[in-house]
Amino acid sequence: MSNDFGIETVLKRLGIEETNKGTSTGSEWMDTGADYITSFSPVDGKPIGKVQVTHRQAYEAVIGKAEEAFKVWRKMPAPARGEVVRQIGNALRDRKEDLGKLVSYEMGKSYQEGLGEVQEMIDICDFAVGLSRQLYGLTMHSERPGHRMYEQWHPLGIVGIISAFNFPVAVWSWNTMLAWVCGDVCVWKPSEKAPISALACQYIAAEVFKSNGLPEGISSLVNGDYKVGEYLSKDGRVPLVSATGSTRMGKKVGEAVGARLGRSLLELGGNNAIIITENADLDIAIRGALFGAVGTAGQRCTSTRRLIVHKSVFGVVKERLASAYGKLVIGNPLDEKNHVGPLIDKDAVEMYLKAIDKVKQEGGKEIVEGGVLSGSGYASGCYVKPCIFEAENHFEIVQHETFAPILYLIPYEDLDEAIAYHNGVPQGLSSAIMTTNMREAEQFLSAAGSDCGIANVNIGTSGAEIGGAFGGEKETGGGRESGSDSWKAYMRRQTNTINYSTQLPLAQGIKFDI
Ligand code: NAD
Repeated sequence: MSNDFGIETVLKRLGIEETNKGTSTGSEWMDTGADYITSFSPVDGKPIGKVQVTHRQAYEAVIGKAEEAFKVWRKMPAPARGEVVRQIGNALRDRKEDLGKLVSYEMGKSYQEGLGEVQEMIDICDFAVGLSRQLYGLTMHSERPGHRMYEQWHPLGIVGIISAFNFPVAVWSWNTMLAWVCGDVCVWKPSEKAPISALACQYIAAEVFKSNGLPEGISSLVNGDYKVGEYLSKDGRVPLVSATGSTRMGKKVGEAVGARLGRSLLELGGNNAIIITENADLDIAIRGALFGAVGTAGQRCTSTRRLIVHKSVFGVVKERLASAYGKLVIGNPLDEKNHVGPLIDKDAVEMYLKAIDKVKQEGGKEIVEGGVLSGSGYASGCYVKPCIFEAENHFEIVQHETFAPILYLIPYEDLDEAIAYHNGVPQGLSSAIMTTNMREAEQFLSAAGSDCGIANVNIGTSGAEIGGAFGGEKETGGGRESGSDSWKAYMRRQTNTINYSTQLPLAQGIKFDI
């Protein structure tokens, strides 16, 4: 294994070997035989390492350990669980640069974004620590004399986490840190496209659990493709499956979990738009649109895919964007002078090329040309040029999430029309309006405005903060993770009524005397 960027040292410091076991209940790792996933870096096409695939028998052992661990973990006071999460946050602070570099190298996002992803993990740890003292239930006034009524929240049990390649570590932490303070134990199946970053997280968490004398099974890792994901979605011992990925995957997971009446928390694809009105501050609008469309090479669930632009500023927006695209530097994401890194793999490049063909066939007008880069520095074959098309909202390809840096420009005449275009797609994740006009902003945020889970004013569609609930509507799946009261998804609510009187009055005044 030989890579530039000092990645060997990083891997060593994170405890990762060339060939790794992939199934773990904490500090213990199971040998699951000869079936491996090799992780290749999209940065240079070189292998980073190999991870053993979890087989059924190993999965059963993981679930057995998780069930046992839950019996211990759920009895620990929530603030004591918060203390463990606080230590995990500190361990992440210590490994921030190494983990950020690994994420960048394995996924292909810029080093800055890799560091940002780890920062989000640290932030959610801090949030979860505070939350561990705030898992509040309500008290109600009973209609019966001498009675007290209140609700409390209990942990669910095993939470299964299925994650996508594009946020290989942050999505795990959004789920686990909350689930852990809530008293749940977690089994994580990371993306088969980024398993090495997941190993690093498992090592970091396991060390903290071990040093606190806690049992195996609170933090478990399984590896493999959709088949291992199905172990979780079909398993009645896993009351909640939180799945992040494509809508195609979410439909399958939702169906499997629903068939056993379990709970699923689905975080699926987006088709995010920014409306640029005639009253927009164009400097902010162009910068917001640019980062949203080309950041992470268009591989964020919140990436900007559509720009709905008022006709009066359409020409200038088009020109300024084309000029900004002309200045983009594409290349190794670990080199901070580059703006755009690679797509995750060659399949993603294929999808990008197909989408370009399709928009052209449907009548889209090319504004900035796309294409695959080759030659020195682009050996992985995964580097593509961000491109722009003038298109119509109803085009089939525009209705579809292509996970690549393709931006569609759509002109509009009045705001009702713009909002209709905006909402006229199957997905409902993130949205934005660029305007300095209060009426336009408020209309966009009103019940008759954006139908998305996230709606911003004068901020692009990507780059959410952990303090808010994150997720979207329609085919985005309806799940909410991270901040606000998202923790409730990881707990079960119990209503308690206590009679401290000497009578037994029935509710609704019912008489039942003998
Ligand atoms: P993907 O759907 O191909 O895979 C995601 C995960 O699901 C992987 O771990 C995969 O192994 C697993 N999986 C696939 N089919 C499964 C099945 N039938 N049963 C159980 N597990 C299964 O997605 P991807 O290519 O890794 O990620 C990109 C997608 O994720 C995009 O659509 C993006 O918008 C979405 N995403 C959404 C959010 C969000 O919060 N809404 C965040 C990140 C990514």
